[in-house]
Amino acid sequence: MNRYFVLILVAILLSACGPRALEPDAAHECERCEDWNKPLDPFRIHGNTWYVGTAGLSSILIETDDGLVLVDGGLPQSAALIDANIRELGFDPLDINAILVSHAHFDHAGGVAALQRLSRANVFTSEAGLQTLSSGRLGEDDPQYIADSDAGSFPAIEKVTAIGDGESVSIGSVNVKAVHTPGHTKGSVTWTWESCALNTCYDVVYADSLTAVSSPGFSFGATGMADRMIESAGVIADLDCDILLSPHPFFFGMHDKLERRDEGNPFVNSFACTFYAETALDWLEQRLEAEGR
Ligand SMILES: [Zn+2]
Repeated sequence: MNRYFVLILVAILLSACGPRALEPDAAHECERCEDWNKPLDPFRIHGNTWYVGTAGLSSILIETDDGLVLVDGGLPQSAALIDANIRELGFDPLDINAILVSHAHFDHAGGVAALQRLSRANVFTSEAGLQTLSSGRLGEDDPQYIADSDAGSFPAIEKVTAIGDGESVSIGSVNVKAVHTPGHTKGSVTWTWESCALNTCYDVVYADSLTAVSSPGFSFGATGMADRMIESAGVIADLDCDILLSPHPFFFGMHDKLERRDEGNPFVNSFACTFYAETALDWLEQRLEAEGR
């Protein structure tokens, strides 16, 4: 056989059988995107739970005895950083079996399509968030919807599975429970699971955003979204909660906590969910006053 033919054949076989690599989608442009997407070294929060997101957008990795679970995927341009962070911890992104989404906005779901193509993981969210994730386009009832604009769009996610309120995504022996907490979007999901290490188990709560942020003209009061948010705040406050995480690290004081890692585990705080809910209600009150009720 011709030597060149053999070399070409080997190259073709290698490219077909070699490890899959991330193929990122085009970056999303926004005022705060550059800041949000600054890289951050990954770190262990507790036990099976790791932070693999960027400086301003959370992505959480859960290790199980049958592969990995990823919660949220940041911006489209975050996917490469998340991929690198997972590898830096010694895990293989191809082992991700499930990707869980908090809510269908470009800054948390933007990187999910690329991470799903890489890992072939199933993506889970609520029924109310399914359409937006599958199309990558905000519905008219989203508080941040702008007519005739694709400013809030993100790469559509191919295969999304809806999961009911109180149901769990079970990977290996880890059960991650979906708690529907509408308000920031109608499909918002809070995810909760147990993390154990050295005989100490904690309930981790990845509480979805409870912020009343919208495009001009949207009314949280008139649409009933305020009532849903008040109810969701109560649900989050009542959860078993030792470690609070959320889509924006700012909301759980991540950077301050990282500075205090030598004082035990600063992420453990059983009052954090209640405080999170109370703060959200204060902000909502201000928003409703601005809306004139
Ligand atoms: Zn959002």
